[in-house]
Amino acid sequence: MTPVVQAQGIHKRFGRLEVLKGIDFEVQEREVACLIGPSGSGKSTLLRCINHLEKINAGRLYVDGELVGYRQRGEKLYELRDNEIAQQRRNIGMVFQRFNLFPHMTALENVMEAPVQVRRESRQAARERARELLDRVGLADKEKSYPAQLSGGQQQRVAIARALAMQPRLMLFDEPTSALDPELVGDVLGVMRQLARDGMTMVVVTHEMQFAREVADKVLFMDGGVVVEQGPPSQVIGAPQQERTRSFLARVL
Ligand code: ADP
Ligand code: MG
Repeated sequence: MTPVVQAQGIHKRFGRLEVLKGIDFEVQEREVACLIGPSGSGKSTLLRCINHLEKINAGRLYVDGELVGYRQRGEKLYELRDNEIAQQRRNIGMVFQRFNLFPHMTALENVMEAPVQVRRESRQAARERARELLDRVGLADKEKSYPAQLSGGQQQRVAIARALAMQPRLMLFDEPTSALDPELVGDVLGVMRQLARDGMTMVVVTHEMQFAREVADKVLFMDGGVVVEQGPPSQVIGAPQQERTRSFLARVL
């Protein structure tokens, strides 16, 4: 089966700073991969490369078997046009640490926006689906609320519903609970856990080791732009082989 994400020898530089130094990993359909590692290790950059927000300098990156941002003819790579890139990005949902909701729109309007504007769905159909999605993230009673009237955890759940509204094949999460008050973290992780159970393919950058242990099919520990260790959580978190992984876990657990 074609992996949903396939990274082969990914390199990324910002000027002279090499941030990703040859990353290899795969995520299969319905799998959850958790990226863990210290600040500055390149986790966000890797997610941003998958979602076309950064261009890689070397290596090959495929989503659903398609090269991200390029078309290959023989040995040569051609950059995709903007509309082709937009097409590829539609299959990917992303949730950031900060919720980035549209402040002047209600929760329901936030979730409806992309299906109506980008996919040209009718408002009626988009509204029905948005209601289902708000229900799925436990916010059926908040559809008329504006972001400022919602807690951080509720806003983040709207952000998840908004990403799901585009019916992505892959969901990327970049520390989705890091900006939340501790008592609000559980609800957001609960929604993500349910999403995983429903079979969504996910790549999650997180410091929530308990979540990674319970939900991840594979954990990748990154440090200094390389994947130091990867495998099932029982191995990487439960019985790490590398000293760098052990010292990181000793600090966060
Ligand atoms: P993490 O998410 O693991 O904390 P990041 O991917 O955000 O790490 O950052 C990895 C490194 O790349 C850091 O040294 C960071 O300062 C650098 N970096 C990230 N984005 C940029 C950028 N746009 N320009 C220059 N350096 C960047
Ligand atoms: Mg980051």
